[in-house]
Amino acid sequence: MTTQLKPDLLAHIGSTPLVEVEEGIYAKLEYLNPSGSIKARIAKYMVERAEESGQLQPGMTIVEASSGNTGNALSMVAAVKGYKMIVVMPAGLSSERIAISRGFGAEVREVGDFHVNGALEEARTLGAQPGYYFPGQFDSEANIEENREVFGPEILADLGVGRLPDAFVMGVGTGGTLIGVGQCLHAANPACWLVGMEPDESCTILCGEVHHHKIEGIADGFVPGIFQRHREEVDELVAVTSLDAITEMYALARRGFFVGPSSGANVVAARRLKARHPEFATIVTVLCDEGEKYLSEYYRIFGNQR
Ligand code: PMP
Repeated sequence: MTTQLKPDLLAHIGSTPLVEVEEGIYAKLEYLNPSGSIKARIAKYMVERAEESGQLQPGMTIVEASSGNTGNALSMVAAVKGYKMIVVMPAGLSSERIAISRGFGAEVREVGDFHVNGALEEARTLGAQPGYYFPGQFDSEANIEENREVFGPEILADLGVGRLPDAFVMGVGTGGTLIGVGQCLHAANPACWLVGMEPDESCTILCGEVHHHKIEGIADGFVPGIFQRHREEVDELVAVTSLDAITEMYALARRGFFVGPSSGANVVAARRLKARHPEFATIVTVLCDEGEKYLSEYYRIFGNQR
């Protein structure tokens, strides 16, 4: 019998299951990645590209701004590879994500109260110092590249020969997943409809507004460079309220998918797209991160039920 043992934890990133969460809507279970989110993919990829180019060398410190998941993922990659890690995060997000990065041995600095802007400034400034490497996920070509060269092809392989995606729906944080996966799926099916999603309360791209919302991981307070450079590749932008996202998150948990609010928002947006376009037989979306990161914020409210 062959075993699935791999010497390197990072080799277990990706190859997540694609499941039909409801008729015609297929979701990649990215919350099953090591460190619990979709961001494990780009964390590994950005670090390895920087190692190859010599930008990142042994003894250096990685510093990145993150609303949580990229920070957690880079902290894990840094722990595996022996780099020091500094995560600059806004305060006021779920305390679990701060604790997780610290658990991986990273230093966490809390800057600003909700949006990532302040943290980004601090990380960029520190990252320009000698001895530091700043991946810069919001502008990174490596972010797009991982999604186009690795994540997208995985989705096509999961769908199998002869079945192509009619649409891809994804909340916009850096925009890397939407744009990178979109480029790959579009190459396979030029008619594939690309839908970006934002919180209704803070529809920065759609209406230029920046407010508080409860869909952590997307709408970080500005239009990211990746989205600015590639916005013409996106066919449609939709908004989902935080309430709808969280309601769907709870519904997904009751069906066994223990995930965070952006996963709920993606499913809501995909379902609405399906209602508008019943001819779309195959809509692909993502369950982005695990619910454990939101225990104190959302899941702890439940007592024993039925
Ligand atoms: N959902 C969650 C929970 C995330 O952490 C992120 C990444 N910040 C996203 C969605 C959006 O992914 P991307 O950065 O590729 O747009």
